[in-house]
Amino acid sequence: MVILKNVSQAKFDRILLPIARICVAEAQRTNIEFNSFFLHTLCHECCHGIGPHNIVLPDGQHSTVRLELEELHSALEEAKADIVGLWALQYLIDQGLLSKDLEKAVYVSFLAGCFRSIRFGLQEAHGKGQALQFNWIFENGGFVQNGDKTFAVDFNKIKGAVESLSREIMNIQAQGNKVAARLLLERYAVLTPDLHGAINKLENFQIPVDIAPSFDILQLLEGKSLG
Ligand SMILES: [Zn+2]
Repeated sequence: MVILKNVSQAKFDRILLPIARICVAEAQRTNIEFNSFFLHTLCHECCHGIGPHNIVLPDGQHSTVRLELEELHSALEEAKADIVGLWALQYLIDQGLLSKDLEKAVYVSFLAGCFRSIRFGLQEAHGKGQALQFNWIFENGGFVQNGDKTFAVDFNKIKGAVESLSREIMNIQAQGNKVAARLLLERYAVLTPDLHGAINKLENFQIPVDIAPSFDILQLLEGKSLG
């Protein structure tokens, strides 16, 4: 857990904050903070464990979501973990288990995180799943674009968009409906002109796509001195 948190902190400092300075509306940038970013990562991992996995098909046969959705499963499952993880954070805030102060931070950090994950590429499950989420939320008004091309969260509409996409994905999974999964991904998991513009802008600032962790203990094992 300590390593995971250290790695997350590095990703937050070196990638998420620089992305936010370019892609997130200035008025909302101060909402972004590490704790909400890290809590969402934890909720993402927890939410892989819930939702439909073993399912019963309409003809009564037992199956799994993975078997039915085949090559489309990974992108949809990563999107589920992300979006239900976000839903779960709101739930924990509403239950009084997390501070109400986190509410705005959770959504604005998530917005900045969209651009981070989409940079992994749409051929990769996390990138593809994140494009799906960004475009769904944008279409439903939860994210808006400003005149200066930065993006912002509409706090009145974001909750509804998060809930409707969570429902959409988990219904597809529960039914093992590959046709519906394909239609959803074909429509939303795409690089729209707005999204493409934001990603291109980031390229000009040479922000890293990921970090490269280095572990001193490995050098020690190889007989090298610690740096
Ligand atoms: Zn995941």
